[in-house]
Amino acid sequence: MSTPYLESAGGMWDLLASVSTEDLPPAGGACAEVDPELFFPVSYVPSHQITTAKQICAGCPVLAECREYGMGQFDGIFGGLTPGDRRRVRQQQERERRELERHTSITTTDSDHFAMGA
Ligand code: SF4
Repeated sequence: MSTPYLESAGGMWDLLASVSTEDLPPAGGACAEVDPELFFPVSYVPSHQITTAKQICAGCPVLAECREYGMGQFDGIFGGLTPGDRRRVRQQQERERRELERHTSITTTDSDHFAMGA
């Protein structure tokens, strides 16, 4: 990711910076001034807390970058996606990859068939 990172961007970033030596999510997010615990709920069962976090993400200027960052994270809400949402996105991407692979395989087989003059 090419987004610049700040050492202290507030809210969730300060929390993550204190516990991680890895890359941090993109700075400049709409959640910088919000209690970071909103994005790390105790339970991911749909709740008002998750709804509020997702509403904040929906208007965030770094939503796409944060979502990309979050796809590598186990916990927390990033880019408007909970861990369960990210798992479903990965599953959908895997289904699409397999479908494309299957389609490519069929197309290759067809062209091979025509190339052989059959
Ligand atoms: S998308 Fe959400 S979690 Fe990510 S920076 Fe923006 S407000 Fe924060």
